[in-house]
Amino acid sequence: MTTINTVTGTMDSADLGFTLMHEHIMVAASGVHKDYPELLGPDFMANAIKKLQDTKAGGVSTILDATTLDLGRDIELIAESSRQSGIKIIACTGWWLDYPRFFGGVSADQLAKVFIREVTEGISGTDIKAGILKSASDMPGVTPEGETVLRAIARAHKETNLPIMLHSYSPGRVGLQQMAVMKDEGVAMNRIKFDHSNDTTDVEYLTMLLDEGCYLGLDRYPGGNTSPMARTKTMKALIDAGYADRLCPSHDHSAISIDADNPMITKEQRLKMNPHGFLYMKNVVFPWLREMGVSENIIDGLCVIGPRKFFEET
Ligand SMILES: [Zn+2]
Repeated sequence: MTTINTVTGTMDSADLGFTLMHEHIMVAASGVHKDYPELLGPDFMANAIKKLQDTKAGGVSTILDATTLDLGRDIELIAESSRQSGIKIIACTGWWLDYPRFFGGVSADQLAKVFIREVTEGISGTDIKAGILKSASDMPGVTPEGETVLRAIARAHKETNLPIMLHSYSPGRVGLQQMAVMKDEGVAMNRIKFDHSNDTTDVEYLTMLLDEGCYLGLDRYPGGNTSPMARTKTMKALIDAGYADRLCPSHDHSAISIDADNPMITKEQRLKMNPHGFLYMKNVVFPWLREMGVSENIIDGLCVIGPRKFFEET
């Protein structure tokens, strides 16, 4: 058993239940929803609460909110979403990929201190504490700024013992670069979850990460370039290879996002791609796995066993 910080207090890892390990209540950019709320569309909060209530009714107990400050994290909005929907929400600290100019000058130790404060004292002047550490490296690999954050969260991990989620560019096998930095900092591999691992179908690479003891976030559904069916075939291959208990399927869905007037894709087209929101896994992916011959027993454990085991690792 491990005690986990949620936005409404602590919880026992045994009570996680069905857990989506990489989602967002709101994604924008730092401060946008306060200064330019009209960019999020009308009634965004009410819509989000309704969506989360439906998600809870659909059998989801816990959501890990992967929103860092640079992605527009508002900890009080997240806590209010949790209270009104009944879904338990775990918040993160760390940084995504929007690096401000001052990142050229700050040290890993300086950043580690602020991340540690968000775990031990609270976020944004509240007593709401982060439950996981996050860093990100994308297509260019581990950049100088990315390395500063990686080392900062590694050091925050040493101090707080919180697990680590790493946004990773799996088609470029960027996880191996991130892993090298984590090893250099002395982080145990079983404390790390490589997110967006289902953006690739490279099972050999994913198996390399698993064989190091890491967890995989299969957390883009329906996702972009790789089709949802190809993502599911990758999940099936990993299940067949015996890794079901270290997979964390999720969507990277956001209940609130910028209501973009985007000529490339209309709101209706976006909704058509995923009318299920946070329930796409249960409504679409699990039936596919069933058709592929995955046992009920394994399917029942997919968003339950991996998340719990990950938080309970020492
Ligand atoms: Zn995300």
